[in-house]
Amino acid sequence: MVRTLPVAAWHSMPAYDMIHTLRGLCRREVESLCDFLEGLATIDQKGIHLELGFPNLFELCRIEFGLSEGCIYRRIQVARKLRHYPELLRALRSGDINLTLASMLCPYLGRHAWETLLSCVRGQSKRQACKALRDLDQQVKTPDGPTSRVQYLGGERYSYRLRIPSHLHHQLERVRELLSHQVPEGEWTGILETLVQYYLRKNDPHEQISPSPDLWLEYSSTSRYIPKGLKQLLLERSGFQCQYISAEGRRCSQTRYLDIDHIHPLARGGETRMDNLQVLCRAHNLLKGDTAITHHNQFSTREKKEKPAKETFSQKFQKITKG
Ligand SMILES: [Zn+2]
Repeated sequence: MVRTLPVAAWHSMPAYDMIHTLRGLCRREVESLCDFLEGLATIDQKGIHLELGFPNLFELCRIEFGLSEGCIYRRIQVARKLRHYPELLRALRSGDINLTLASMLCPYLGRHAWETLLSCVRGQSKRQACKALRDLDQQVKTPDGPTSRVQYLGGERYSYRLRIPSHLHHQLERVRELLSHQVPEGEWTGILETLVQYYLRKNDPHEQISPSPDLWLEYSSTSRYIPKGLKQLLLERSGFQCQYISAEGRRCSQTRYLDIDHIHPLARGGETRMDNLQVLCRAHNLLKGDTAITHHNQFSTREKKEKPAKETFSQKFQKITKG
């Protein structure tokens, strides 16, 4: 990267010129930030990050641009609002608000008039703007519905704040009652932990033990139904990770929201067989459906080069399905 000014130039510069120069640098930073946000919004709308093998915008920004988590979060949050609220970008470009204030405004957009929101935060510190926006929300009744806020408190602690409808409140109270033998104090952290562990034991593939291969013998390869055992095996083979690989050879790193996909669709004669199934994250499964891009060859040739996560198990299964 080329230096804008040599260090020596700063030392010999009169104070007024220094401020003037710094102001110019800030101005350029704002302009490049706004250009960046517009570019990011376009990438998001067109799904370009998915085609390149990134599971989401966050990973693209982290790996390609080396931005910190907070920076990425604010940029994505604002970029996603630009399509419907272009005034946000105008306020950023004009210097009325900075990125932090723009990010703070995002949850309030559409709930209050733009001019009202802008007057709450323009020229304010983060703390002042936060208070003004909260006060504004209290003046006007906000729509019903669950809202949530997760805050990192440092160390191993997080704070969750939820606004929930009354029926959910009653259901939670009933759960607390039923769990009174396990969580005698009825403390919500204990209740939540019990519920989460129960759900994960039932649904998280990482927590499940591979079933016997015998369980897969009775299924039709022309059926859309994928037996639980076969699904588990496919997940193990993929290393519990999306198998999308971009044209440049980048494999998607997503390990959550994984679906099983027929490489050659059933409707076009494909079968529910080990060699015609792959694991895709929700985003790449949708991308494949949307664009009708079939990465059949890409996947099948690359797949052979990858080391299977549970080779002996896979081989055992393939013998059964092919034989
Ligand atoms: Zn993916």
